[in-house]
Amino acid sequence: MIRSATSPVLNLLKRQYSNVAPTTKLFIDGQFVDSKTTQWVDLHDPATNNLVTRVPQSTQTEMEAAVESNLKAYESWKNTSVLTRQQLMLKLQAVIRRDMKKIAANITLEQGKTLADADGDVIRGIQVVEHACAAGTLLQGESLQTISKDMDITSYKVPIGVTAGICPFNFPAMVPLWMFPMALIAGNTMLLKPSERDPGATMLLCELLNEVGCPPGVVNVIHGTHDAVNFICDHPEIKAISFVGGDRAGKHIYSRGAANGKRIQSNMGAKNHAIVLPDADKNAALDSLVGAAFGAAGQRCMALSVVILVGEARKWIPDLVAKAKQLKVNAGHEPGTDVGPVISPQAKEKILQLIEAGIKQGAKCPLDGRNVKVEKYPNGNFVGPTILTEVLPSHDCYTQEIFGPVLSVMTADTLDDAIAIINKNPYGNGTAIFTTSGNHARQFVHEVDAGQVGVNVPIPVPLPMFSFTGSRGSFRGDLHFYGKQGLNFYTETKTITSLWRKGAVPASSTPSVAMPVHN
Ligand code: NAD
Repeated sequence: MIRSATSPVLNLLKRQYSNVAPTTKLFIDGQFVDSKTTQWVDLHDPATNNLVTRVPQSTQTEMEAAVESNLKAYESWKNTSVLTRQQLMLKLQAVIRRDMKKIAANITLEQGKTLADADGDVIRGIQVVEHACAAGTLLQGESLQTISKDMDITSYKVPIGVTAGICPFNFPAMVPLWMFPMALIAGNTMLLKPSERDPGATMLLCELLNEVGCPPGVVNVIHGTHDAVNFICDHPEIKAISFVGGDRAGKHIYSRGAANGKRIQSNMGAKNHAIVLPDADKNAALDSLVGAAFGAAGQRCMALSVVILVGEARKWIPDLVAKAKQLKVNAGHEPGTDVGPVISPQAKEKILQLIEAGIKQGAKCPLDGRNVKVEKYPNGNFVGPTILTEVLPSHDCYTQEIFGPVLSVMTADTLDDAIAIINKNPYGNGTAIFTTSGNHARQFVHEVDAGQVGVNVPIPVPLPMFSFTGSRGSFRGDLHFYGKQGLNFYTETKTITSLWRKGAVPASSTPSVAMPVHN
């Protein structure tokens, strides 16, 4: 028996207990349940590498139970009124907004990004929920009266069934919110598999779904890695998969899921180029570049990781370096931090290797963040802002996605040459131009082959009334996330052709075996 608060035994127990991190639960049928697995993924705070939680590799039985629950919930959810779904989204957006700081704090703990950036992660997700509140308009079909004599055609957007979402680590709130609100308003249910590296935000969103009265099983959450992903790709009751993440997983999921007859949207890696013309507003352009290259420690799929300085703009490198040098590297929750840690020691190692490879292959490094020291957090995965110049298309630091705070600088003599560099790169997620010239901007917009284009806008992620339209190597599938395309992804179109003859139908007629043409 423990007798007093000062008991050495109690202190020992307390110490031991504090070393046992809680485990992340599954969310099945509206309940948070402990996994029975024997396999766990340890999740560490990227700023300290202290253990935060253990994430289960869900067992086959647990995953089956989750789909079963999704399937059961679908039978009634698909028949709920559009107004009911809309009202759920209205309530959900209010409670997410209320708990934004709590969700953001969890993102900073598990993912490492700064608190301000984590707020942005949640807000960009809330915007999709707000968009989903327009279900009544978004779900409208089409109709045409008197397409032929006494004949009308109407189309409905109908749900497709159980859908699944597989998420990356870098936007733990925004990406799940790209997925389930759009799936739900269309009448589907969804099985989510958040990143095993930071599932906390998804779990908080599930608490909120319960709070606002989302019926059990409409959203379920399993955890895991390859086995969980393959389970989703293979399960016959899962009709569509939304994936966001890297190339390897994205291509695998696209092929395996599509081979099983599923609809897939797969958002993958990127190499986003900016062009800076000498007629640009220099200060604004350089500030935008620094923010978009080093914000979130470069771990955004729309980060600007390459800049092409055209003509005289190549003289601006020292100013670019000076601005990047001002950024403060520290733990994401510390006030004034600009650049937090990267997600893991392995990610840091890969970033350092690509910087080194670039230098070995001939790039110069006027700003080197490899040995950055963050005194209070000596064990964190920190990489300081790094600028590589004289980068060539053949360098490894150019051909591979670095996904860290590294900006590669290239130069070109003309806008045509700069556009040609971008169009040769296999990725097509985003790009931006900085210029004060309308005709240069227009040429760029029309000739550059990337899906999301910014004109003096460094991170041109479209708001949810449009769609996230990454292209070429950054996307596989046909219908993009959110907006009208997102809704089409989560629905089938059912078309009804009706004939209601006015007046008496002729008593006798001759059957026609020719194809009806309804002229
Ligand atoms: P990741 O591909 O490692 O992981 C994404 C998901 O796939 C996770 O849930 C993970 O468990 C699973 N997974 C990982 N490897 C797998 C494999 N071999 N087989 C099956 N499943 C696997 O991606 P990440 O590191 O979490 O995220 C960063 C990547 O995501 C970057 O490449 C970034 O560009 C990309 N990303 C793209 C977008 C976009 O919209 N285009 C947005 C955010 C992130």
